[in-house]
Amino acid sequence: MPFNRKDLLGIRDLEAHEIEHILDLAKSFKEINTRSIKKVPTLRGKTVVHLFYEPSTRTRTSFDIAAKRLSADTYSITASASSLVKGETFLDTLKNLEAMKPDVFIIRHSASGAPARMAQRTSAAVINAGDGMHEHPSQALLDMLTMREHKGRLEGLTVLIVGDIAHSRVARSNLWGLKKMGASVVLCGPTTLIPPQIERMGARVCRRPEEAIPDADVIMVLRLQKERQQQMLLPSLREYSMVFGINARRLEKAREDVVIMHPGPINRGVEISPEVADGPHSLILDQVTNGVAVRMALLYLLAQRAEDRGQRPE
Ligand code: ASP
Repeated sequence: MPFNRKDLLGIRDLEAHEIEHILDLAKSFKEINTRSIKKVPTLRGKTVVHLFYEPSTRTRTSFDIAAKRLSADTYSITASASSLVKGETFLDTLKNLEAMKPDVFIIRHSASGAPARMAQRTSAAVINAGDGMHEHPSQALLDMLTMREHKGRLEGLTVLIVGDIAHSRVARSNLWGLKKMGASVVLCGPTTLIPPQIERMGARVCRRPEEAIPDADVIMVLRLQKERQQQMLLPSLREYSMVFGINARRLEKAREDVVIMHPGPINRGVEISPEVADGPHSLILDQVTNGVAVRMALLYLLAQRAEDRGQRPE
């Protein structure tokens, strides 16, 4: 069995063959998204609950579209419009939702480890849609699908990740995934935004984007996560942009076939200039398109497993 798990909590736990399997499955689901009637009955009768304790535009919409295209029923709970604001604890919320017999929970939480805690307490499948500064596995999978599609492989690629590495769950999930798939990862950002000893995870660290741009096959730009910075770790956004911002001038030394990625939301003119974000090398919207297919693959794999576990008596 190429993928035989109850939950998807992170990329760190996955084997390379499991990542490959998810990407292959996502590739086959892409075709459904180009039909005029974009719906198949695969997950009819399955219930998917989105539990978002942090804001989200792309991830939540993308999971919701993915589930609906597979004919699952979806319900969305956001922190501001639920009993979470009335003081109910995370575990009480979970117990009550669990009593309604969902098949899959998709959870985003500001606390690293919240999805893992949830997974131990529910027989439903749990998908981590981003937990604190820890992991964002579906993002890394859609990023790897996009790279593989445009470069034909992951093995041997050099991926430069620029920006706020310290606060980025996207950087961590990509680093784990890309290393497993045989790519090289170079991290670049202000010293205050590079976690100490990150090299132990297999990445190379460089001080200035210019040092790594000429060799990069892929440049992934990250958002400055102002909401996660407890103390001011940067002198100013203007200065950050001058030194680390990815703009046309900085890309003059890049390979002709370099591709630019960003998980969104982008801060135009801060970490990426509009002409690069909207330019010919940008894959930012391809990433969003691929996100739906990757999430269809994940829901397919995990909701089917829920059935195998006998969670739903016929
Ligand atoms: N959307 C991504 C996340 O939720 C990246 C970001 O917010 O900067 O982690």
